[in-house]
Amino acid sequence: MSDDGTFDEDAIEAARKLFAGPVSFLKSAPSLEFIPDAIVPEVAFAGRSNVGKSSLLNALTGRNSLARTSNTPGRTQELNFFNVGGDPLHMRLVDMPGYGFAKAPKDVVKKWRFLVNDFLRGRDVLKRALVLIDARHGVKDVDREILEMLDKAAVSYRMVLTKADKIKATDLADVTAATAAEARKRPAAHPQILQTSSETGLGIPELRAAVIEAIG
Ligand code: GDP
Repeated sequence: MSDDGTFDEDAIEAARKLFAGPVSFLKSAPSLEFIPDAIVPEVAFAGRSNVGKSSLLNALTGRNSLARTSNTPGRTQELNFFNVGGDPLHMRLVDMPGYGFAKAPKDVVKKWRFLVNDFLRGRDVLKRALVLIDARHGVKDVDREILEMLDKAAVSYRMVLTKADKIKATDLADVTAATAAEARKRPAAHPQILQTSSETGLGIPELRAAVIEAIG
């Protein structure tokens, strides 16, 4: 990546090629005893429910229904693992359970906290998290909980704005600046903010390159 935060053509093309190859669902883990062996680098996706995480994972991998969209709190308390690359396996994507359900029972929130915290602290192949932020709302307190967990676990992360097509360009510039200001205050946050839309494809090539960059 260059100093201004853009990716060069080679990085974009390498990332496009990787995700044009095999990508497949591996397994869901409702607790750490079910997670797969740590054999390749991983990049995790986090975000509040309805932020557009499933849509973005599908856009990233160019598959329509790899990540299932589900807004049922009970169904989302799992870590979902996806293999990227065939033989040899290149990396894994981890879809972390969504958070911020208005009506989530206390024990569901507690379970989410334990599962995510244990995963973040104990997974040495986890190279980076991408934390999705709805461009219409910017960073909210429900997002700050995961940002703090990542800072404390010293897992590097990047904030990614979703649904950029839903707001005006001037508002997008404002929310990007505000999110960058939030990132500057946080020790494990990458200073550059990505703008994406699963609807228009905005930022998807860059998001792919950001995933590849993260696994080095
Ligand atoms: P998740 O709960 O975070 O997995 O969110 P989903 O991917 O299921 O998306 C939630 C809702 O937002 C769905 O109705 C999607 O169609 C919509 N959505 C997701 N991404 C975008 C986007 O980039 N643009 C627009 N306009 N809508 C989106």
